[in-house]
Amino acid sequence: MPTEIKIECPGCGWEPDGGAYWACTCGQVWDTFSTAGRCPSCNKQWKYTQCIGFKGGCDQFSLHLDWYKGLDGWLEEEAGEVLHQPERADF
Ligand SMILES: [Zn+2]
Ligand SMILES: [Zn+2]
Repeated sequence: MPTEIKIECPGCGWEPDGGAYWACTCGQVWDTFSTAGRCPSCNKQWKYTQCIGFKGGCDQFSLHLDWYKGLDGWLEEEAGEVLHQPERADF
């Protein structure tokens, strides 16, 4: 993994601050970016991640992978545009 990954909302540019703002359907609350969108309690993989409105975000859902800005270069090197297709984003 590259070290220069930046995480921000694809819609508004809000940057997660490491807080546990995401709630799973099982009741778990955690920082979804610490687990790449996977619930640490029930292991549900969340394909979409919501921006946190009460922390200054826009409340919109975006593909989890789209939040990682620094991935573009090596993703395209590794696998090309195919990884940007929504149906392939839940690997
Ligand atoms: Zn869960
Ligand atoms: Zn946002």
